[in-house]
Amino acid sequence: MTFNDNSRIDSGKVSKRGRNIAIGGGGGAIVVVGLFILSQVLGVDLTGLAGGASQGTQSEQTLDCKTGADANASTDCLMVGAATSLDDYWTDTAPSLGIQYRSPSDFVLFEQSTSTGCGQASSATGPFYCPPDETLYVDTSFFDELRTRFGASGGTLSQMYVVAHEWGHHIQQLAGILGSTDHTDTGPASDSVRTELQADCFAGSWVGAASTIKDENGVTFLEPVTSSQIADALNAASVIGDDRIQQQSSGQIDPESWTHGSSASRQHWFEAGLSGGPGACDTFSVPASGL
Ligand SMILES: [Zn+2]
Repeated sequence: MTFNDNSRIDSGKVSKRGRNIAIGGGGGAIVVVGLFILSQVLGVDLTGLAGGASQGTQSEQTLDCKTGADANASTDCLMVGAATSLDDYWTDTAPSLGIQYRSPSDFVLFEQSTSTGCGQASSATGPFYCPPDETLYVDTSFFDELRTRFGASGGTLSQMYVVAHEWGHHIQQLAGILGSTDHTDTGPASDSVRTELQADCFAGSWVGAASTIKDENGVTFLEPVTSSQIADALNAASVIGDDRIQQQSSGQIDPESWTHGSSASRQHWFEAGLSGGPGACDTFSVPASGL
């Protein structure tokens, strides 16, 4: 998806942290977290996050992203553009779902590792939303991984889909859904999978409306989405389906361990939101056969 060059985006919605600078000369100053498994990509399942305080300091970098042209030119500014549009979209839309909206506390871009309200995160964690601090965390190197490791076709809409999915978890947090569902439950019709598919649906609903959302001057942020961009986003949803990841990593598919849903389900719910809006995203009331 392409930003209108003249639209105004807001750098204040995204923070960027530099690499950890180790303190002291001893080894192992940076907590290396290797506990994460691929199926937790894009999830709220934070089981693997290591506890403990950060052992380094991180510099806060200033993002200089002012216009849609900036968003079209760099990944960091693309994140700023997505955040600006998503925040506007949900400010307008959440009340219609009976949700009192507030922006996420922060949206943090980091490299390698960072401390979060959910423990220490590393690049291997994949993008995630941390409910206790209501913050999105993304290491943008994940977008390279989407292509090289997961085999996604790539494209900016697939990157913004990732952000929109995590923003969807924030909506669920505000709606009380994250606090009332069973995150230890796994399987194709589990609470975990229903939660993830709803976040995919919310992401689709934003994409469906994205070209109508305007900045403070009435300029639309995004140009109408093209079918090939939709195909990229659906492809991204597909390559991070539990069945696809299991097939790729072990050659065996074990539906009972699923936490995010199959490739087909993830695509189905993204499209449901895309065509039906957020009102079409009640993944909790449909029977297992409807997921
Ligand atoms: Zn998720």
